[in-house]
Amino acid sequence: MSATVIDLHTHTTHSDGSSTPTELIALSSSKRARAVAVTDHDTVSAIVEARAAADRYGIEFVAGIEISAEYSPGTMHILGYFIDCESTELAKKLEELRKAREARNPQIASRLQSLGFDISYDEVVRLAGNQVVGRPHFARLLIEKGYVATMQEAFDRFLKKDADAYVAKARLSPREAIALIHEAGGVAVLAHPYQLKLSSYEEVDALVGELAALGLDGIEAVYSRHSVDERTKYSEVASRHGLLITGGSDYHGTYKPDIDIVSGLGDLAVPYELLEELKARAGARPREIQASRARDLS
Ligand code: AMP
Ligand code: ZN
Ligand code: FE
Ligand code: FE
Repeated sequence: MSATVIDLHTHTTHSDGSSTPTELIALSSSKRARAVAVTDHDTVSAIVEARAAADRYGIEFVAGIEISAEYSPGTMHILGYFIDCESTELAKKLEELRKAREARNPQIASRLQSLGFDISYDEVVRLAGNQVVGRPHFARLLIEKGYVATMQEAFDRFLKKDADAYVAKARLSPREAIALIHEAGGVAVLAHPYQLKLSSYEEVDALVGELAALGLDGIEAVYSRHSVDERTKYSEVASRHGLLITGGSDYHGTYKPDIDIVSGLGDLAVPYELLEELKARAGARPREIQASRARDLS
């Protein structure tokens, strides 16, 4: 593999991944990644350790985040890149999102108990290591207790949207998610658009148009679970709306056992050039804000 590949979508033990930030960077290095972004759900607590490890390995590091937005019938996740992890506004909002998880998670535990499983929420929290707790941790506990054989079986039978133990959590609207990322100085990218579950090109195009009007910067066209046709389709839609494209594996370690860091399902190769465009967009953003402020004042 050439040393020009990157991975802009990864999760650590600080959310629902199984690799520590340092382990994740070491793995990226062994796969000869030139740049890596860590994009944990609702937290930036892995960033300091990951950045320090990346410095030691000579890997370019991008501070990221993944935020769930209100959307139906599928799932909408927004990735933020080059965010200011010291932003107090960001910290406040992320704390609220983690509180929303803490309100939802015990309800998932109760539902699983009602279904006859001997599990407690405390066990899930212990398994997660007191980080951001999510459905994959419930799935892992169901495997450990022998109730299901695989993560996928746990989701398909109990945890996926509309399954018996699924409980929705409070989310930001797409507008709020994009604004939060922009206010923290970041670039906002629509994650894994196939999860929107839109059937036609026209529907994707219309939704992306709406998100672009809200300030969306890019689309994660290159993604582990996107077919070649999907990668082409989402790249075309991005270009029609003046958006950039990004790519990543969505590595979660043992929580998504079929997905490897950097190489995804095996054929992923995100080129470094995509990061150069992302950096250009991030560099342009403060000037855009300054320009709009200047307009407001004149
Ligand atoms: P949560 O944020 O707690 O709702 O969990 C979301 C995470 O669960 C996602 O990032 C995925 O890693 C995982 N996930 C969601 N839906 C599925 C599914 N149908 N199959 C496998 N993993 C899933
Ligand atoms: Zn996840
Ligand atoms: Fe996601
Ligand atoms: Fe993710």
